[in-house]
Amino acid sequence: MLYRFFCLSVLSVLIAGCAEEAAKNTDQVDKTQTVYNWRMVTTWPKNFPGLGVAPETLATRVAKMSKGRLNIKVYGAGEVVPAMEVFEAVSQGSAQMGHGAAYYWKGKVPIAQFFTAIPFGLTAQEMNGWLLYGGGLDLWRELYARFNLVPIPGGNTGVQMAGWFNKEINSLEDIQGMKMRIPGLGGEVFDRAGGEPIQTPGGEIFTSLQTGVIDAAEWVGPYNDLAFGLHQVAKYYYYPGWQEPGPTLEVIVNKEAYDSLPEDLQEILTVASLASNLDMLAEYTARNNAALVELVEQHGVEVRRLPDDVIEEFKRLSLEVTEEIIDDDPLSQRIYKSYKAYYEGVVDFHEISEKAYINTRGN
Ligand code: CA
Repeated sequence: MLYRFFCLSVLSVLIAGCAEEAAKNTDQVDKTQTVYNWRMVTTWPKNFPGLGVAPETLATRVAKMSKGRLNIKVYGAGEVVPAMEVFEAVSQGSAQMGHGAAYYWKGKVPIAQFFTAIPFGLTAQEMNGWLLYGGGLDLWRELYARFNLVPIPGGNTGVQMAGWFNKEINSLEDIQGMKMRIPGLGGEVFDRAGGEPIQTPGGEIFTSLQTGVIDAAEWVGPYNDLAFGLHQVAKYYYYPGWQEPGPTLEVIVNKEAYDSLPEDLQEILTVASLASNLDMLAEYTARNNAALVELVEQHGVEVRRLPDDVIEEFKRLSLEVTEEIIDDDPLSQRIYKSYKAYYEGVVDFHEISEKAYINTRGN
């Protein structure tokens, strides 16, 4: 009797085990055959050169690599949600993915700006080092988990331009009261220097400049600014892009949607996003100068350097505003400490490598 009970028990455990195993296998089999149809909302005008094409390319690559198991339909700004609501839409799951920039969400998550660009901070090459090998991406994931999101680096424009102005900037006096489209921490700096920063989505910059809603605007650099025709509405083109030395763009994925994917599709999505991150920088590096030549030679744009005292003041204020976004939240402090420690190290080495080489090479 005892023996029989023992056998039955063993048998039932075995059966339960097998059933569990079978369920797991069925689950896996089902997932590898499931077709996922996703929506990706973006902060960019549909198919805009570089920025808007990157998510389209990402979607095409994911469809090819997954053999049609993960299909992503890309929407430009305003098609499903306005540019500035992308974070919320993906966080809540009304779209599974988004493409934009973390600093657009500064009103909700000030510390997220570290994952796009800090004025006078890391360059594109340095940002990639911090994110992928310096602990930055782990911190970014920890931060975005609070919003039900998984972030992946998804683009970088390299050093931008300081922007378009309708009058010459000879001193800080010239920017007093000036309304300028300038997002992120750069906008805070501009505010403290006496200007008035305006948060304008890319697609509205031209009209805002044309109608006088804003007096100046920074967008990206020659390749993208030419595409928007900003030279038609402003005369002076200033450098350097102190406010965005190498902004990382983001792919954001709704966490439940991401977790619902089998491992291979998660990997495909991640690799395709990282490919966009690399691709975009290569594209801008290759195309910016030709666009600049066209702006100057065909459209008569005047390229100017910001005066040293303006740059020095922006730099002083940048340190101030950057430190002020660190709050009592331990994660915010960890992000700042990680960025700062990495920054100090990379700047030291780049002094005798990248910077020394570029200075040695000259023109
Ligand atoms: Ca910009």
